[in-house]
Order: sequence, then structure tokens, then C-alpha cells
Amino acid sequence: MTSWQQAAIERIVVQTPRVKSFFLRTPIERHVAGQHLDVRLTAEDGYHAQRAYSIASAPGDAIELAIEELAEGEVSPYFHEVAQPGDTFEVRGPLGGHFVWNASDGGPVLLVGGGSGVAPLMAMARERNRAAPRVPMLLVYSSRTWEDVIFRDELVGAHALRNGFDALLSAGLSFTAVRLTGGGSQSVSWRQMVADVFALPVEVPRQVEGAAFGAALQALWAYDRAEGGKSTIAAIAREHADVDAAQSAQPDPIVADAYREQYGRFLDHLETTKQFYARHADPST
Ligand SMILES: Cc1cc2nc3c(=O)[nH]c(=O)nc-3n(C[C@H](O)[C@H](O)[C@H](O)COP(=O)(O)OP(=O)(O)OC[C@H]3O[C@@H](n4cnc5c(N)ncnc54)[C@H](O)[C@@H]3O)c2cc1C
Repeated sequence: MTSWQQAAIERIVVQTPRVKSFFLRTPIERHVAGQHLDVRLTAEDGYHAQRAYSIASAPGDAIELAIEELAEGEVSPYFHEVAQPGDTFEVRGPLGGHFVWNASDGGPVLLVGGGSGVAPLMAMARERNRAAPRVPMLLVYSSRTWEDVIFRDELVGAHALRNGFDALLSAGLSFTAVRLTGGGSQSVSWRQMVADVFALPVEVPRQVEGAAFGAALQALWAYDRAEGGKSTIAAIAREHADVDAAQSAQPDPIVADAYREQYGRFLDHLETTKQFYARHADPST
């Protein structure tokens, strides 16, 4: 059994009204997707409370625990009501060697879970996206309400992006590349995922604050026009906006096809689920 080690909360992210993610700084060794940590809290009088939490992050990433608050529980309310970034507690692990998935295990893989039980499955899905995107993996995940779907943006985000993109295509626009800005553009996996979802190369501008930089370019154009200049926004963008070639991503045709197929299924499921929730939102049924 591994020994207890200190963990510090680096960041807290609200996932749903009842679940928060805690990103930890710990010296524990690299985990395998599906493993968990034991968490131990110690009161001033020496009283210990210990619980297990699955690791939701992919191996190698900062440890993420997605903790659901249970009414009148002992440990989970501490995390929700008291814990702050910088707070420390003890962890032991990574633990568990049976319910795990390595990219080298291959597939197809069927993941089935509900509620906070999605946490270890998320580690597997994230690992698959990064290390084995061609392995077929299906996650069947149940949740009481749409608001309670943990990791919702990440799970359906790719399809939501595709949905918006389709609206642009059906408006008659066409594209040769996607320019990605913001925090997500700094993630290798997200860049690759966007390239595969859109089936287009992804480019990342050198200016990290892309939206603010775009606004500045527009301001420059407006200023030039106000001064009687003849510049165009395209010429200004060409002159100032610069792409970082090292951060670009190319679509993988096989993965892009898989996304296209999944997206079709996603639209079918979305229609069915919308009807289900609409029926159950009516208290008279
Ligand atoms: C391998 C593993 C992985 C896990 N992963 C996760 C995860 O990723 N995320 C997650 O949120 N949880 C996970 N859990 C569950 C987690 O370990 C805790 O069980 C959970 O957080 C509840 O702990 P607690 O101290 O808040 O509640 P507890 O104090 O354990 O109480 C649990 C419930 O029992 C009720 N209760 C307590 N005592 C009594 C009593 N005397 N009479 C009646 N009711 C009582 C409480 O009101 C509460 O609703 C995992 C568990 C395991 C074993």
C-alpha cells in the first residue's frame, strides 16, 4: 500500500450545481485511467475521515477529482463548502488495478456509468482522445437532469462546435482552415480534436489573446478609415496576425470520418433526449 502524501488544491471548477472539480498538485506517480485516490482529512483533534475519489484526468495531466456534494455527508461537504485553492490534505495512490484502461489495450470499448461514476470513465475517454483516437469508444452516461451532466461541455462540446459550423456552411460560407484562440488553443488534444471535428487544418495565432487582438485590429482599421485611409481589414490582419506553425494541427481522415458519423448519431440522440426531458419537465406526467 502506498504511503500518504500531501496534496494542494490548485484550482476549483464548478461542473454542475452539485459537482466541483478539484485540480491537485501532488507528488504521486503517474496514474492509469480508471484508478482512484484515497483522500484523508484530519481535524485539529486528530480525527481522520477517509474516502476514495476516482481520478478524472488523463494520465500525465494534473490530477482532477470530480466530487459530488452529498447532503449531510462528512467529506464531500468539506470540499464544497470549505476547501479553497491552496488548501492541503493527504492523498494515497494511485490505487486500483482492475478497472483500468491503457491506450495499448485497444478496443472497441463500451463505457457505462451514471452521476459521479463518470469520473474514471472520463479519464479513459480523455486518454483515448489523446493517445489512441482511432480506438472506437462509446460512453453511455445517465444523469437525472441535463444540468447534472458532469463534463457536459467537454463531452458534447465537439458536437456543439460542429453544430455551429454547419450553420455557417448552410449559410453558404466555405473555409480552408480554423483559427483557434483562447485557453483551449494551448492544448494539443483540443487542437487535434477541433481539426478532426471540422476536418480542416487548425492554425493558432501567436497572439494568445486572440479576441482582444482582433478587436485591436478592428480599432486600427476604424482609426485609419476615420483619418481618410483606404486600408482593408484583410490587409491589416495579414500584416499583423501571425500564425505559430509549431502549434498547427492537421485532421486525421479516419478520426474525422468517425466524428462525422458520431455527429449524425448525436443529432438523433439529441432529438430523442429533448423529447424525453420535455415530457418529464411537465409535473403532470
Ligand atoms: C473507488 C471509489 C471511487 C469513488 N469516486 C468518486 C468520485 O469520483 N466522485 C464522488 O463524488 N464520489 C466518489 N466516490 C464516493 C466517495 O468515496 C464518498 O463515498 C462520497 O463522497 C460520500 O462521502 P461523504 O463523506 O461526503 O458522505 P458520507 O459521510 O460517507 O455519507 C454518505 C451518505 O450517507 C448518509 N449517512 C451517513 N451516515 C448516516 C446514518 N447514520 N444514517 C443515515 N444516513 C447516513 C449521508 O447523509 C450521506 O448522504 C468513490 C467511491 C469509491 C469507493
